[in-house]
Amino acid sequence: MNIEQQLHLTGNEKGYWFVSQNGRLWLPNGKVPFGQANELGFSHEIAQPIGEWNGQTAWLICKEMNSSMSSIKCLLNRDDPSLFYMAGRAVQLSEFYRSHKYCGYCGHNMHISHKEWCCLCDNCNERYYPQISPSIIVAIRNKNKILLAKHARHNKDNLFTVLAGFTEIGETMENAVEREVFEESKIKIKNIRYVGSQPWPFPNSLMMAYLADYDSGDIQIDKNELVEAAWYHYSQLPKIPEYGTIARRLIEDTIVLCREYDELGKNE
Ligand SMILES: [Zn+2]
Repeated sequence: MNIEQQLHLTGNEKGYWFVSQNGRLWLPNGKVPFGQANELGFSHEIAQPIGEWNGQTAWLICKEMNSSMSSIKCLLNRDDPSLFYMAGRAVQLSEFYRSHKYCGYCGHNMHISHKEWCCLCDNCNERYYPQISPSIIVAIRNKNKILLAKHARHNKDNLFTVLAGFTEIGETMENAVEREVFEESKIKIKNIRYVGSQPWPFPNSLMMAYLADYDSGDIQIDKNELVEAAWYHYSQLPKIPEYGTIARRLIEDTIVLCREYDELGKNE
């Protein structure tokens, strides 16, 4: 990617303004502000172009505004995720710069590279790149039913979703899918198929999404992770994640397969 460097604004720069600090974004009236730097009070700020959105430059300013700093989850859109992804880039870069002021090897000051998204040590020349954590998310079908679980962290909003977890060091994505499912539910799966991916900047996941079929075993949940888990027929689903999330897409894809199973009377 062609990286443009941080610069002191003159006031004439125009575009969308992603102002971020501490994992949150400035969203006055729930929107990413558009306009000229001086109209928004950003003359003399330090900013960095981080790409293009809607035909305009996307600018990152790493600072906290006095109000309207919020989670970027409200930018999720079922038809066009590109704004959510650009916001995720802004939030993650801002946090990366904030957490990489000093070198982890020698403790000296670092500076932001002009050539790529990385921080460089002024003393030992070590390079640091933004962390991206690969994670798996998987929807499991058993005939005309889907496995849905309530995660401990979703207990208060009563949300049921598919299983997910981080990939571990020295593990393939496919290993991670099988391991996570077994750890959380004690069932075995088969026919694992890759569907797609979604950056999930809370704080730095890249979700790789899979479909799989039930193979064997009875559900026994890991009580550290899950509150409950069960097989649900598509006509009797509990509260599930909103459109725009890859979890919802996996659930919708699985519902199609469950319907086909019912309509065609498929035998496994
Ligand atoms: Zn160093």
